[in-house]
Amino acid sequence: MKSLPEKVQAVKRVYTRLDKEIYAMQQSSGLHCLSGCGECCKKPDIECTPLEFLPLALELYDEGRAEQAWEELQNQHNNLCYVFRPHVTNFGGLCNAYPNRGLICRLFGFTARTNKEGQRELVTCKFIKEEQAQAFIKVTEELKAGKKIPVMSEYYTRLTSIDPTLAEFYPINQAIQKALEVVMHYYAYRRRRKKT
Ligand code: SF4
Repeated sequence: MKSLPEKVQAVKRVYTRLDKEIYAMQQSSGLHCLSGCGECCKKPDIECTPLEFLPLALELYDEGRAEQAWEELQNQHNNLCYVFRPHVTNFGGLCNAYPNRGLICRLFGFTARTNKEGQRELVTCKFIKEEQAQAFIKVTEELKAGKKIPVMSEYYTRLTSIDPTLAEFYPINQAIQKALEVVMHYYAYRRRRKKT
């Protein structure tokens, strides 16, 4: 069985691989997020697993902010992701923990799923579909012809294999809170020796 630092490392390895594949997909397709956007982060019903937020939770722990974050999450009365900071203009915003964002935050926009007809389709937002229509249509056609891009379900499987007990889905803030609980519980009776 993996220790907590080993699980965090394993999650990070999955992210490194995915980020590389998404970068290649963006380069070849020309698809990209709108500058300063973050509208997808505002969805009120984003579901995630505690596993995908273990790196974030460990970093907050290392910074001595895990308990405070847990309390703030406990007292937060809206569904907006805990680490998302909307712009005052009301359009877009920024992730305040970008290097440690979750799996769904990395997947959305540039990965594929299999639709009801058994075809691969891009899972993306209306901004990309509308403002980068040509590139979007091209990728859609290429996917039908068998082009390989990262597939959501494959990445969930990779992540789940690290620790299936932490791969249940919860609303995003609950998932972050549970990840914090896992880290705080792990180090309640252990010394944290070095940064992972
Ligand atoms: S995926 Fe779409 S909504 Fe989300 S940040 Fe990128 S452009 Fe904006």
